[in-house]
Amino acid sequence: MLDQSKIDALRSTRVPPRKLFIDGGWQDGNGETLDVISPIDGKAFTTLTRAAPADVDRAVACARAAFEDGRWSRMAPAARKKILLRLAELIEENALDLAVLGVRDNGTELNMAIKAEPGSAAGTFRYYAEALDKIYGEIAPTDPSVLGLVHKTPVGVVGAIVPWNFPLMIGAWKLAPALAMGNSVVLKPAETASLSLLRLAELASEAGLPDGVLNVVTGQGSVAGEALALSMDVDVMVFTGSGATGRRLLEYSARSNLKRCYLELGGKSPNIVFADAHDLDEAAKVSAMGIFRNSGQVCVAGSRLLVEESIHDEFVAAVARHTETLKVGDPLDLSTQIGAVNSLDQLEGNLGFIESAVAEGNTIALGGNRILQETGGYYMEPTIVTDVKTRDRLAQQEVFGPVLAVQTFKTEEEAVTLANDSIYGLSSAVWTSNLSRAHRMIAGVRAGLVHVNTYGGADVTVPLGGVKQSGNGHDKSLHALDKYVDLKTAWIKL
Ligand code: ADP
Repeated sequence: MLDQSKIDALRSTRVPPRKLFIDGGWQDGNGETLDVISPIDGKAFTTLTRAAPADVDRAVACARAAFEDGRWSRMAPAARKKILLRLAELIEENALDLAVLGVRDNGTELNMAIKAEPGSAAGTFRYYAEALDKIYGEIAPTDPSVLGLVHKTPVGVVGAIVPWNFPLMIGAWKLAPALAMGNSVVLKPAETASLSLLRLAELASEAGLPDGVLNVVTGQGSVAGEALALSMDVDVMVFTGSGATGRRLLEYSARSNLKRCYLELGGKSPNIVFADAHDLDEAAKVSAMGIFRNSGQVCVAGSRLLVEESIHDEFVAAVARHTETLKVGDPLDLSTQIGAVNSLDQLEGNLGFIESAVAEGNTIALGGNRILQETGGYYMEPTIVTDVKTRDRLAQQEVFGPVLAVQTFKTEEEAVTLANDSIYGLSSAVWTSNLSRAHRMIAGVRAGLVHVNTYGGADVTVPLGGVKQSGNGHDKSLHALDKYVDLKTAWIKL
């Protein structure tokens, strides 16, 4: 049970200026810093170090040295497992501190963050720790005069760049399998969500992770992130963020050492509601949370509601009714269901989408405004926009904010066509009581994830990844391990 008084005691704890975490300890950059502004009240509460390219190179060199001398990469799997399991425990022991620190930094409602951030990260480290000594190589069915062995070897140095919406959860999706397979990592968190990941690196050291195996460099994406992705000594890049940055990473790879890049990018995920859904009110309630939790700052958010025309008015009214019960406000207040928008830039971008929606003739059915401006924080009303046509900006572009675009369809075929009329293919949902239709929709919708009669919720046991411009590669599940190993064949004459 979360205790409001404990949260209030942590909400204004002093956070000292943060340095870079390199080679198992705190290191200075060249003195340049970045203010950390809390979206709760718009006030700066600490600083981050702006890593320069030379700092990133230093972190990569430490990661490489750690990898080459085998302090982690050649440690017995059972010993690696013990350390990662201890890290999972430490995350749980520090869950509230980590969650509150993260919320002060990024604005997610604590009710969600406590589970989605430390809760999920601990589970992810535990899952890959348990998996790491169950991954076998292969003996090939060759001619008996030779022995063909297929080894799974760590790739070396992994560069990870993660976003601000769920830093610990998404960070763990990259770090846990990378470390489990024996790699070293240099992590670049987002400018507006670095604090909890810096703390995680400290906890990893406390758990016994050898120095240099996990390094965290903070600062600007266009400087520190770019230097990491251009490094000649990073073997694999893993990334979650925008399509624009994903494109740059591919370019940096081509300009440097052709490192493999795994990209988890945006979405404009269709949530498709048929008139034959067995409980339309439940569908409306879950659909509202499917877009509005974390102020819509969720890559798999169901941001396009496709409703069968015959139930449009009734269904939109039900979504609006449920949305109006959601309290938006201070994310550290346990009665809040929707916290703050991550930054002023993000908030202004969201409001820009509302302006262009009006200009395109869409109807603002609910919300549309900045609220609670007197707090100094960045809050926005959950917003429902109807009369959206498939070529409109709101049907095609990812807002990454609390904005639901509603479109209608008449037939199942039209629903599939509309759903797939997108450059993205990350998540989706279908609400129907017709089992055959559900299976046809699963086959027809091009997305990495199709929910049926639900939205959201999944765990580390199933892969998450997109098709089309939503990216490539998968986080979570045993499939994610493939990104962090190379196959090496040994061909032995007998
Ligand atoms: P968002 O729109 O979600 O902020 P970004 O792609 O801009 O998405 O940011 C995701 C991550 O990518 C952040 O850690 C950010 O610092 C980093 N990033 C941004 N620009 C670059 C870049 N040019 N090179 C490498 N990393 C970058």
